[in-house]
Amino acid sequence: MRWSERQLAMLREMGIRLWPAAGDDANAPDDVHGDAPVALAQTTDAAVIDAAAPPVSHAPVVATPSHALSSHTSPVSTLDWPALRETVAACTACRLCESRRQTVFGVGSTRAHWMIVGEAPGEQEDRQGEPFVGKSGQLLDNMLRAIGLTRGEDAEPAQQVYIANTLKCRPPGNRNPMPDELAKCEDFLIRQVQLLQPKIILAMGAFAVQGLLRSTEPVGKLRGRVHRYQGVPLVVTYHPAYLLRNLVDKAKAWDDLCLAVEASRSGA
Ligand code: URA
Repeated sequence: MRWSERQLAMLREMGIRLWPAAGDDANAPDDVHGDAPVALAQTTDAAVIDAAAPPVSHAPVVATPSHALSSHTSPVSTLDWPALRETVAACTACRLCESRRQTVFGVGSTRAHWMIVGEAPGEQEDRQGEPFVGKSGQLLDNMLRAIGLTRGEDAEPAQQVYIANTLKCRPPGNRNPMPDELAKCEDFLIRQVQLLQPKIILAMGAFAVQGLLRSTEPVGKLRGRVHRYQGVPLVVTYHPAYLLRNLVDKAKAWDDLCLAVEASRSGA
């Protein structure tokens, strides 16, 4: 799906603001210790390289083989939603439990067709217990609204998103997630995917993307095609906090959203 200039102008006229205007840069977090996880400093490096890459509009939907998931039987693999939420809230598996205010489990309808996977809670998320409530969350909501999606629970499942992070606890000072923290938290996300059974996963930011796909490739190299996670089609895109600081890549993120819409419809 590709939006013409005329369609975009119509969206703007309808008051649907897809992206912050150039002047809104002032709203962007002024350092990565604000709303944006420090992880994004790494994302930035990758994306600078990718900025020179050719645009991926009209990218073919090419499924790549799913990665091998750990074969051990997780103790959370039989939990239902309430039990899983309680288990996450009580988790002390890694050092992040010492500094968190609360765990950030996920938000949205458990019937949603879309799943958004971010990186880790920031300060606001740690305070409010909900993913993506800071400035990057506002941009995420605008992006979702532009393709007719909402984290609200009143819409039809096809229009709903469930939002979760790879880490359920805030890394102190928004430092990068450590590999052992990601590993200890992954079973929770896997169970969320199993329970939700989304039609499409949109993975945002280097840590989410690389963790889910077991890859060390930068976001810019992994976007533009349809991967699989737990058998579910997965599309890779930039983290909204990165986009707030790198307006030039907004067009690529729009292409990613369009690819995700296509994949969700075709079940690619
Ligand atoms: N960034 C993320 O990746 N997740 C959040 O919940 C907030 C900011």
